[in-house]
Amino acid sequence: MSFIPYGKQAINQQDIQAVIDVLTSDYLTQGPQVPAFEQAVASYCGVAAAVAVNSATSALHIAYLALGLGKGDILWTTPNTFVATANAALFCGAEVDFVDIEATTYNLSVEKLAHKLEEAERTGKLPKIVVPVHFAGQSCDMKAIHALSLQYGFAIVEDASHAIGASYLGRKVGSCQYSDITIFSFHPVKIITTAEGGLATSNLPGLVEKMQLLRSHGITREPHLMTHSTDGPWYYQQVDLGFNYRMTEMQAALGLNQMTRLDAFVTKRHELAKHYDAALKELPIQRPFQSPDSYSSYHLYPIVLQQNAPSRAVVFEKLRLKELGVNVHYIPVHTQPYYQGLGFKVGDFPNAESYYQNTISIPLHQGILPEQQTFVIDALCEILQ
Ligand SMILES: *Cc1c(COP(=O)(O)O)cnc(C)c1O
Repeated sequence: MSFIPYGKQAINQQDIQAVIDVLTSDYLTQGPQVPAFEQAVASYCGVAAAVAVNSATSALHIAYLALGLGKGDILWTTPNTFVATANAALFCGAEVDFVDIEATTYNLSVEKLAHKLEEAERTGKLPKIVVPVHFAGQSCDMKAIHALSLQYGFAIVEDASHAIGASYLGRKVGSCQYSDITIFSFHPVKIITTAEGGLATSNLPGLVEKMQLLRSHGITREPHLMTHSTDGPWYYQQVDLGFNYRMTEMQAALGLNQMTRLDAFVTKRHELAKHYDAALKELPIQRPFQSPDSYSSYHLYPIVLQQNAPSRAVVFEKLRLKELGVNVHYIPVHTQPYYQGLGFKVGDFPNAESYYQNTISIPLHQGILPEQQTFVIDALCEILQ
């Protein structure tokens, strides 16, 4: 059996043709593919608008800036995420703090959030933005987080890098029913891919306009955004300090074509997960809990070794020796040396730390063949039984 990665892109002939068609067209960037991709994602999610960029990291950065995050502000997120969720707040000059996870879903704990908000109100250190991360593709309890945002006055950015194709309380993740902005990642290990790429959705026109400006140098050709009437058809104005975070036409064409298979990808992931659930039932592991409020996109299938199982290091190495591309999600952000340098300590967020000590993400993606999944299951049974 050849190497089986934990996540991998699924590219078909139509994807390849879509990219080739762009290469022989007039536009490699700033053409019709990006708006078409944005439109496809927005209508899929049931949201007013989408802004495509060159990575989810860039999407987080411009989302935070559009909400006015800057020096003196505080952003809260979960330690159980990729470093980019927190880093993007540091790019803005803001401070970062974390809210520990709950032991069932490994998502940010609403109970801990409520408690920390109470305390922060007393000390005058309330966050400007809270960023729930839909870990492994399962939505956080957005209704409860939204209720807290009304009470304490913070904005919400959903980091849905894992969760395109997922639903929460009957609506697609990305609809922004309970948030200001939602961001997605299209890195090849995620559900659909544009190689590198990201996107932000929002129902608020002011935020959309601001993110469109920031992704392209702060430059506009829209007369209503200019400080005076246009000098002529060549004219543009720089009205803000922005970046070059644009997505290319090749990336957007690939993403647009991938969107047509998004639901099929998620269905396939559910079938694989269901099969794992049944086949791994007797092993000393905790399998991913699924909340009745949400339909996950199953970006990951993280197992958590129980106390009577061999250590994570032993199990991980045995799986790797069998050419299984298992991985670990996530090393808690606050334990990274850079964040330790900012004053965070091991022990600050015990649930995220103990989850990290015992978790392994096993292979789950749309390209896994039945015999490959059987191989993974047999390997786990051999090592853990
Ligand atoms: C992948 C990921 C990101 C970063 O995505 P890029 O597109 O690689 O910039 C951010 N947050 C989470 C939770 C992720 O999984």
